Amino acid sequence: MSEVLTTPAVLILLGPPGAGKGTQARMLEERFGLIQLSTGDLLRAAVAEGSPAGLAAKAVMETGGLVSDEIVLAILKDRMAKPDVQAGVILDGFPRTAGQAAALDGLLAESGQDVTAAISLEVDDEAMIDRVAGRFTCAHCGEGYHDTHKKTAKAGTCDKCGGTEFKRRADDNAETARERLRAYHAETAPLIAHYDKLGVLRTVDAMGSIAGVAKALRTIVKSATE
Ligand code: ADP
Repeated sequence: MSEVLTTPAVLILLGPPGAGKGTQARMLEERFGLIQLSTGDLLRAAVAEGSPAGLAAKAVMETGGLVSDEIVLAILKDRMAKPDVQAGVILDGFPRTAGQAAALDGLLAESGQDVTAAISLEVDDEAMIDRVAGRFTCAHCGEGYHDTHKKTAKAGTCDKCGGTEFKRRADDNAETARERLRAYHAETAPLIAHYDKLGVLRTVDAMGSIAGVAKALRTIVKSATE
């Protein structure tokens, strides 16, 4: 089901690895016709392509550290230049540093836009390690699953598209997840104060069900775009 927003939206999802940013971004994308823009996905595509940026990013991603602002911004600007982002975007995994946040503010200002809402998904750190270490996705449509919390209805078959091949990210293991969590607290969590100052911060308790969190997000998106 799709609803049309009256104003183009720039939504940011903030939260540690495993908080559900990707899952929720995909649901908002379907609901409101927005484009999910995940720098993690864009970087993984660059790695798969074997581009110079991808090669540089690969080594960093494998350790759970952050890819340089220079590479991430180049990839993001490229994507933001495509015409399909007109109706609005959900930024998932970006910005992740103060430098990226400042660059985004500048980029939006060039086209007279602002961040519509920065939504912080609040979760418990230890639960995140468990979520991340057990997750996998459909290789065909990208739908996300978890070994214990969100199994496919029929073993080995994607609920959404019927695909039978699945993949797991190389960095979705407990050790790398701990490093990603550390990077989140050191570099990204301070952005919550940045968006609070701008008056666009919203917070959601993201320890509840996927459907419950999705409902809270829809309410926020509607009120932020009225
Ligand atoms: P998660 O949110 O589950 O950690 P992502 O798919 O968003 O996963 O990111 C995977 C990895 O890609 C990160 O650990 C980091 O190395 C890199 N990455 C993604 N987005 C950024 C970004 N905005 N800045 C720096 N590195 C990034």
